[in-house]
Amino acid sequence: MIPTPMRILCVYAHPDDPEFSIGGSVARWADEGALLTYVIITDGAAGSNQPGQDLRELAETRAQEQRAAAAVLGVQDVQFLGYADGTLESTIELRRTLTRIIRQLRPDRVVCGDPTAVFYGDGYINHPDHRAAAEATVYAVFPSAVTRPIFPDLLTEGYEPHQVRELYISSAMQSDTYIDISATLERKIEALRQHKSQVDPGDGQWVRDWAAETGKAADLPAAEAFRVMKLVQAPVEA
Ligand SMILES: [Zn+2]
Repeated sequence: MIPTPMRILCVYAHPDDPEFSIGGSVARWADEGALLTYVIITDGAAGSNQPGQDLRELAETRAQEQRAAAAVLGVQDVQFLGYADGTLESTIELRRTLTRIIRQLRPDRVVCGDPTAVFYGDGYINHPDHRAAAEATVYAVFPSAVTRPIFPDLLTEGYEPHQVRELYISSAMQSDTYIDISATLERKIEALRQHKSQVDPGDGQWVRDWAAETGKAADLPAAEAFRVMKLVQAPVEA
């Protein structure tokens, strides 16, 4: 029997979100043979406060940067949905679009942000686009992708229901799973470097420090943290 590679779908609001949040894990999963798809919901055109900035040009630049970063990590497929950056809402229309993608790609694992996260520490308000993207993704996974009567138009288009097995929530309010990224940390930094219009990781030391700090909770030298939902229970051993 030909082994089926695991399919992983990562859904984020902005170009560069996946590199910051899950870049080390993505590279590791790619190395382990998974087939990875990124869906980037917005066009990233609010990624500059420069008066007179050509926003179409910026969106095109950011798409190119995102493709380059994905290539560094080993992500085969990058899809851009082109929603306006900065005003994203978790609408039924967005949920339908994500449901279509899930039913089409049929991933084993979906990765997204935490829809419950409003405040991180005392210095960062979570971007509302991140919350909207995460909420639409979580509810596309369940119940929309798996429930036949939801979005009957998708059935008409030929998209049968699909049960995602695992949901990985990054930057979660409560993490319970730590992925060792020591072997892929330098590639995460190299991927961040591709987002030239947004971030200069310098020598990358802050990324290493951040991964080391995250790893402490699980006694790992470098890690990214997730909350993992197992949506299909393993059969009970006889
Ligand atoms: Zn973002």
